[in-house]
Parts: sequence; structure tokens; C-alpha cells
Amino acid sequence: MGKVYLTGAGPGDIELLTIKALKAIQKADVIIYDRLANPEILKECKDGCEFMYVGKADSHHTLPQDEINELIYKCALKYEHVVRLKGGDPLVFGRGGEEALYLKQRDIKFEFIPGITSAIAVPEYAGIPVTHRGITVSFRVVTGHEAPYKERSQIPWQNFKSDDTIVFLMGLHNLDKITQKLIEIGKPKDFPIAVISKGTTKDEKTVIGTLENIYQKAKDLPTPALIVVGEVVKLHKDLSWWES
Ligand code: SAH
Repeated sequence: MGKVYLTGAGPGDIELLTIKALKAIQKADVIIYDRLANPEILKECKDGCEFMYVGKADSHHTLPQDEINELIYKCALKYEHVVRLKGGDPLVFGRGGEEALYLKQRDIKFEFIPGITSAIAVPEYAGIPVTHRGITVSFRVVTGHEAPYKERSQIPWQNFKSDDTIVFLMGLHNLDKITQKLIEIGKPKDFPIAVISKGTTKDEKTVIGTLENIYQKAKDLPTPALIVVGEVVKLHKDLSWWES
């Protein structure tokens, strides 16, 4: 029986791959990868390595999660060194925990290899620090996939502190609802917000706006994209470095 490495591929820029992830990829007999993992990384593998694409893009799964779990398990029965490669970090909205539990229940050995999460690195490439002395002492990473007006929202909207930086992942298609909700909980209409598309890649694009106008400005940006809300967004004009 093989071992499964639940591996973070980082947010896009291939150089943000960790050395540990690179070593796992170089040893892999099979790599099971998502849409968000930069495919350039696959070139690092050894001859004869097999690839399986399970194409998760936001919530639009090519394969349902239980089939992905089963596929990883089957691979572990067949190959010695299995790499499950995911965008960013495997445990930040990556369902890596579920995959590990599935393996654990079937006595398959696994390891997590953390990756640089888009939640921090993408704002950073856009010149937006998620914390900044004198501006904010905390940041939250929140799913933007849940419809903000669903009856029993799991998101503690009312608890968002006024100086929290809030990073929404998987939120572009809910951008109008998210901004409405933030205004509803008391944030000013002119509060700063950024949408960053294809972060850390050569196609990265940042759009800056307010809660009131960002939807019109950013709704057509290509995915993957994340949303940053907070006073720290104002630092973009001085700290932007990658896009220029
Ligand atoms: N495990 C991943 C996140 C998975 S959720 C991580 O740690 O980064 C997928 C969401 O991440 C996307 O919908 C998008 O909001 C965000 N995302 C991932 N890569 C991104 C990128 N290069 N640019 C902008 N957003 C990105």
C-alpha cells in the first residue's frame, strides 16, 4: 500500500511551491490534481508518472468529492507514492481534511504538505497586506460561496469587527450579495474593497472600489478571483509591485 501526500501547490506563481512539495512531486508515481494547481508544476515529475485531473473549479466539480476520495484511495492501493495536488493550501477550503479522513478510515498512510494560500499571497502580490500596524490587527478568511441571504447562514456576519480585514474566497459570483450584506451590517457604502483575479500569475488584475461600486467594476473579471474588504486595501496604490 502506498502513501498519499495531500500537497499544496501554492496560489499560481510556480515559484511559490515549497521545497517539500517539489520533492513529493518529483517522487510521485501518480498526481491527482485540481484546476487551481498550476499545470506547469506537473513538468517537475519523473518519467512515467501518471496524471489524473479531477478539475475542481470553485464549486463546479468535475468529479463529486466522494468519487475523488475513492479515486485517491484506489491510487494508494496501486501506487507507492501518490500526490494529491491542490491549489493554495490543502486545508484552506481545500477539502484536504475530508480526503485524509477517508484514507485514515481505510488504513492508508497520508501526510499534509502545506501550501502558500491564495488568501494571503494573492492580496500580497496586489500590494495589500492582510494585517498592517495601525490599521488592522486581524484578518478573516471566509467562504463567499454560501449565499449571504440563505436562511441559516453559517457566516457570523454580525461578529465581523469593524477593523477586520475580510478575505472572501469563492465569492465572485456572489459579489453583489456580499457587498449588500456588508452595507446592511453597518459598513459605510464607500468602504474600500478589492477584487483580485488570477493572482500571482502574469495575468493578475486588481480592481479597487467601494462596497457600492465594486460590483459594476469587477463582476466580469475572470476566475479564480478573491475579494478583500478593509482599510488595508488603500495601501494597494503605494504597495502594488507585481502587476507593474
Ligand atoms: N485551497 C485554496 C483555496 C481553495 S478555494 C488556497 O489555499 O488558496 C478556491 C478559491 O480560492 C477561488 O474561488 C478564489 O477565491 C481563490 N483563489 C485561488 N487561487 C487564486 C488566484 N490565483 N487568484 C485569486 N483567487 C484565487
